[in-house]
Amino acid sequence: MEAGFSTDRGAEHMMFRTQELMLKQNRLLQGIAVAASNLLTSSDHLGGLREALAVIGAVTEVHRVYLIECHVAPSQEGHYPSVIMEWHEPSFSRRLSELEGTLAHPVNVIEQRMEELSSGQPVVEQMRELTIATGKIHHFFSIGTVLLIPIVVNDCFTGVVGLDLFFHERSWSSYELAVLSIAASCIGGALERMQQQKQLELTNQMLQRLSTLDSLTEVANRRYFDEYFEREWKRAVRNGSPLSLIMLDIDYFKSYNDTYGHQEGDACLIQVAGILRRTVCRATDLVARYGGEEFAIVLPDTDLAGACFVSEQIRANVERFKMGALQSQANKYVTVSIGVASFRPQADSEQSALIRAADRALYQAKAAGRNQVRSIQMP
Ligand code: GH3
Ligand code: MG
Ligand code: MG
Repeated sequence: MEAGFSTDRGAEHMMFRTQELMLKQNRLLQGIAVAASNLLTSSDHLGGLREALAVIGAVTEVHRVYLIECHVAPSQEGHYPSVIMEWHEPSFSRRLSELEGTLAHPVNVIEQRMEELSSGQPVVEQMRELTIATGKIHHFFSIGTVLLIPIVVNDCFTGVVGLDLFFHERSWSSYELAVLSIAASCIGGALERMQQQKQLELTNQMLQRLSTLDSLTEVANRRYFDEYFEREWKRAVRNGSPLSLIMLDIDYFKSYNDTYGHQEGDACLIQVAGILRRTVCRATDLVARYGGEEFAIVLPDTDLAGACFVSEQIRANVERFKMGALQSQANKYVTVSIGVASFRPQADSEQSALIRAADRALYQAKAAGRNQVRSIQMP
């Protein structure tokens, strides 16, 4: 009787254990499914990753979950781990902040077990002799279990999801490891999408910048000049402030090209653009290539006297640079003629009037013998 009773009790206990295990496995699977679906569908990759770590931590009942990216060194000889984010179990987090300690990451374990991790195998390490804490809490947290789940994307090892349990050891079942490996794959996918998005944003910024620049001289192009001039015009009308425009044309440039060839001509344009950029120094001033060998400079908040001062500096700097022993009638070296116009625009003023005035001034500078500045103050 007694033996039968104890067998029944044993069977009951086994059933209870099996049910408990099944419940635990269900909880794990459901949690990971929620985290995975968030990672796959959310456009907020960072938020999705943060939530995934928290879910993993909650369903596995560990103290800390972290995401470490391992960059392959340029020499291909090693992986450099960097911690992207981590989650702490709330009560553990409170204890940590009370202790004012910082917890290190088991980077040395990653390095020592790289072979297994790279081939996609999870690594479990009891931390009896491992010290992963620093400062005041040095000994306090130095026992427990570390689980490292590798992230492998397109057969390439890119990092690990780490799970730390402090104060006691635990074992991980192959079921748990399999489910966590699926979670790590989803995290790897989200990390990759995050990087692609970052790359796309960078490319877009570069394209945006390129679309405003003249490819030869790398000053603003005509399209951006038009946009900027209109914007500054409107600002000047609103603020009642002066706006000046410089038009600059290289003297006898056709003859420069004929003498030295187009390539040298292009090099000269690059030099002149560089001089303009270096001479014009306010952040709001804009140097642009207006046409073939003509440049325009927008000078917001600048009156005629200020614009003439800048223009004279530009003229002198180009002359001083002594580009080419040009067959110039006015001078031995490359020179520029400059027309300046200034204006306090009113709401009913025409934008093109300022451009026409600067052009007229430029024509006067050419007619007067080139290598000089002429100016017009608009009413
Ligand atoms: P001026 O003193 O009256 O301005 O004489 P100029 O020869 O400079 O004037 P013109 O307008 O007759 O000639 C402009 C020349 O500028 C024509 C062309 O040979 C040269 N040019 C225009 N755009 C470029 C360019 O992008 N590269 C090169 N190398 N030359 C250019
Ligand atoms: Mg010209
Ligand atoms: Mg010219």
